[in-house]
Amino acid sequence: MGKLYDNHNHSQFSFDGAHASIEGAAKAAQEKGLSGICFTDHCDFFVPEMKAEFEALVPEVFDIEAQQEEIDRVSSLSGIRIFKGVELGLYKSCREQSRGFLSAGTFDEVIASIHYLDDTDPFFGGYYIGKDWKTAYGHYLETIYEELTALGDFDIMGHFDYVARYAPYPQASILYKDFPDIFDALLKYLAENGKSIEINTKTYQDYNGRTPVLDRNILSRFREFGGEGISIGSDSHNPERIGDKFRHFEEYVKSCGFGYTVHYENRKPVFSEI
Ligand SMILES: [Zn+2]
Ligand SMILES: [Zn+2]
Repeated sequence: MGKLYDNHNHSQFSFDGAHASIEGAAKAAQEKGLSGICFTDHCDFFVPEMKAEFEALVPEVFDIEAQQEEIDRVSSLSGIRIFKGVELGLYKSCREQSRGFLSAGTFDEVIASIHYLDDTDPFFGGYYIGKDWKTAYGHYLETIYEELTALGDFDIMGHFDYVARYAPYPQASILYKDFPDIFDALLKYLAENGKSIEINTKTYQDYNGRTPVLDRNILSRFREFGGEGISIGSDSHNPERIGDKFRHFEEYVKSCGFGYTVHYENRKPVFSEI
């Protein structure tokens, strides 16, 4: 068993993380035997119309200064490493804002994610209306490719299977064999540019009787393209889920041909042997 870092966590500084104090989360991570934790609070410059009533509650950017001060305070008390990150939600009309935001920040790690597309929020379901599963998943993957390649400045591709969590289809998982062309383009880009894939363990649980699984062919293909970075994140919004299923996925990563998992310090990848 190697050192494990939970690279994706929301704290009290995310609009949806009210129950996750940085101090409590760091303590939970330590109790679970992790070597470190990174806080990646939300930054989304776009809010879809269907979510407009929440807009006042959802600041585009969390209070970075306050988050980083609290991390520094808790770091000095804690027995594990604590890192400062952000989960940046990408949207086509906000590319300039995203770039500007990153050039001004001092993060250890940047996760680039798609939360909204076509002016909808898959979490609320609107995205799926009028789409079959293949169109819905394929278009989400294509949007990831378009936005990540346009941004360039990020470390980790966030939850590529987010769109499967809240989908209404019996087809619960996103498999390589169903989207080989778009996966090849995406995985090749990530591998060639030294970016990491995230295993977001929040996806692999029961959603309305459907449980998405992680397709090993996606990881193996990434390896074939020379990809090295596999980041494991719980996407926790409370201390209970920190490090969830990490030992299982550490073994899974190893069985797909990787000898390491990754975490980030000052935007540089650091590899830990499995
Ligand atoms: Zn996310
Ligand atoms: Zn998240």
